[in-house]
Amino acid sequence: MREDNLLGEGILGTDFSFDISIRLGSGAYVCGEETALIESLEGNRGEPRNRPPFPVNTGYMGYPTSVNNVETLAAVPHIITKGGSWFKKHGTDKSTGSKLFSVSGDCENPGVYELPWGISINELLEIVGAKNTKAVQVGGASGTCIPKSQFDRKFGYEDIPTGGSVIIFNESRNMLHVLKNFMEFFVEESCGQCTPCRIGNVKLLEGINMIERGEFTFKYINTLKELGKTMQVASKCGLGQSSPNAFISILDNFKDEIFHTVGNDGFNGKAGK
Ligand code: SF4
Repeated sequence: MREDNLLGEGILGTDFSFDISIRLGSGAYVCGEETALIESLEGNRGEPRNRPPFPVNTGYMGYPTSVNNVETLAAVPHIITKGGSWFKKHGTDKSTGSKLFSVSGDCENPGVYELPWGISINELLEIVGAKNTKAVQVGGASGTCIPKSQFDRKFGYEDIPTGGSVIIFNESRNMLHVLKNFMEFFVEESCGQCTPCRIGNVKLLEGINMIERGEFTFKYINTLKELGKTMQVASKCGLGQSSPNAFISILDNFKDEIFHTVGNDGFNGKAGK
């Protein structure tokens, strides 16, 4: 585009200049949060900022900054050339257009799919060749785990909103191990700035280890769920606000499997009521 004078100084001989610079991050999950991303771009440790001020006022190097996903920007030329009503023909009333679904896990054809908003989990599973599916994690590690009984639910702001990550688990998967994997990830990825997230994720992981060992009480597990709800409202950024989602949804939706695995009564003789 630079060779064709479509990017850079004086585009197509006009006085309009515009350029793109591509930077690579180092993989920190929290840098998906826009202010942590900006900190990282400025060469600082990737930690979320206090807001306000918001990036749209004070962002990169103190300038007004608009932070968008590439997916969003890629939709813009199609909307400009084909019109908003064309875009709205796809999807649902409140979730217009298409969505990129990044599908991984137990299926024949994992990958990135562009599909209209409003398709059901069942339809997506068929498209990607998933069989004997037990659970679908929507929205990544910090998303919600949907059980088979709810696979007729639809992706969209009316029902299941998502950034697009879909992880498929078939009948061979142990949901307690799935949950442990997610929580280990969050203990590792918490930037440590705020207490609800830094300590909370460790406590939730400890709870999972207790369940695994059969050394817990339902009362304590319920206390941890309450802790998760506190993290959702008290954490500083989206990581800590959403990391308890998997803990709460997997323990709620797969309690029969998880607590059957460790024994329903007495839990190895060590657990109380
Ligand atoms: S919620 Fe977690 S990741 Fe976000 S600022 Fe607090 S400690 Fe850091």
